[in-house]
Amino acid sequence: MLDLSKENWKNIDKSVEELENEYIRITRPVNDEYIPIDCPKCNILLNGAEDIQAYKRHQMCNECELINWNTLNHNLNK
Ligand SMILES: [Zn+2]
Repeated sequence: MLDLSKENWKNIDKSVEELENEYIRITRPVNDEYIPIDCPKCNILLNGAEDIQAYKRHQMCNECELINWNTLNHNLNK
C-alpha cells in the first residue's frame, strides 16, 4: 500500500514535490489545487512536471493532451 502521508514527500523545488518508493515515483505541485494521482482519461499515473502542467491546462496527462491536441482549445497564449 502506497503511503501518501505528507512526511514521505520531498521537495524538488518550491512548487513541486515528489514521492518515491521501490515501485513508483510520483510528483505533484506543493500546496496547489487538487491534482489527481492519475489521468482521468487514461488512468495512468501523472508523473512529472509535464503531466501536471498538462493536467492544469486540460485535466489530462501530457500524453493524452498530445493525442487530443487537435480537438482541444488552442487559446493557451498568455
Ligand atoms: Zn492520460
